[in-house]
Amino acid sequence: MKFGTKAIHAGQEPDPSTGAVMTPIYQTSTYAQKSPGDNKGYEYSRGTNPTRSALEGCLAALENARFALAFSSGMGATDAVMKLLQPGDEVITGNDLYGGSYRIFTKIFANYGIKFHFLDLSDPEIVAQYTNENTKLVWVETPTNPTMQIVDIEAIGKITKAKNLTFVVDNTFASPYLQNPIDLGADIVMHSVTKYIGGHSDLVMGALMLNDEDLYKRLWFIYNACGATPGPMDSFLALRGIKTLHLRMKAHCENGKQVAEFLKTHPKVDKIYWPGFTDHPNHEIAKKQMRGFGGMISITLKDADLAETFRIASNFKVFTLAESLGGVESLLNHPATMTHGSIPKEVREKVGVVDSLLRLSVGVEDIEDLLEDLKNALS
Ligand SMILES: *Cc1c(COP(=O)(O)O)cnc(C)c1O
Repeated sequence: MKFGTKAIHAGQEPDPSTGAVMTPIYQTSTYAQKSPGDNKGYEYSRGTNPTRSALEGCLAALENARFALAFSSGMGATDAVMKLLQPGDEVITGNDLYGGSYRIFTKIFANYGIKFHFLDLSDPEIVAQYTNENTKLVWVETPTNPTMQIVDIEAIGKITKAKNLTFVVDNTFASPYLQNPIDLGADIVMHSVTKYIGGHSDLVMGALMLNDEDLYKRLWFIYNACGATPGPMDSFLALRGIKTLHLRMKAHCENGKQVAEFLKTHPKVDKIYWPGFTDHPNHEIAKKQMRGFGGMISITLKDADLAETFRIASNFKVFTLAESLGGVESLLNHPATMTHGSIPKEVREKVGVVDSLLRLSVGVEDIEDLLEDLKNALS
């Protein structure tokens, strides 16, 4: 099946008892058993729930994976992956990560004896250089948040395969519509379903997709034992949101391109980060591994200190100043004080997260209204 058909149908069948076309919200914590252990595969909703099972079937299909696990947030999914590790293990990851990923690595898992190397992964060979006998896992985000750097998934996948490392890709920014890391050699794909997959800014959820059955069983054990699993109502909302994922992504890409081109020549804009530009440093890799360039764009403002950046950020009428991204509505974010506020200033500035940086999540409103809003706000 092609992407749009999977988005609407995968994992879902009309309800066998009533024919209801939409998957029911199985709002139940527990399930009747005929005699102990004689059940229909459902015992307790922390571990399994039919609405969530339908969602997991759909999520797996979107990433061309055999298995998916839905979590109550993207961080819940990340937490489960890190719990595969033992004290003494080492992780290689990027130096330009989602702030919450950096925070859970450095403030939670570092305390449990796991060592993290935050590296510039634009040269994949650095993974081989930093791999030693303790290295177990490579965690990659691409495009990165917020500076839209591109990491070559296939090249890193070859190294992780040769060195027997678990290779995880946070695919939140691209969405499964634009990029499928498992097809390029990743072992696990992680998503913040909160963003493009959910798509309507009405839920918080995460997911892991993967092919290896043993790894799936280990992760399912963690998921059930630790319990960061989503309820049936949110699972339903995610399923409903996914039905338009392909339509939304096409519109995000079209609007994103027009906004990027408008901003590129704007006198108030100093740097612009968007992988669709041919002069983006990794445009060729983006073209190779992505089917489009998406609606995430970051800019720095020319000669703007923090006060001027705040003034401009408060000028918008259609873009809403808010955390998060990937919804139908356009959002604007100030990474230095919002999404990346938990990263020390000297660390974030090294990778370009300066005070004058603004990140745009271009929504699917009418493009003329978006361009007009940008024009007014930047004046
Ligand atoms: C939002 C986000 C996360 C965390 O997901 P939550 O659903 O907010 O817990 C992880 N990675 C990226 C790239 C994100 O944008």
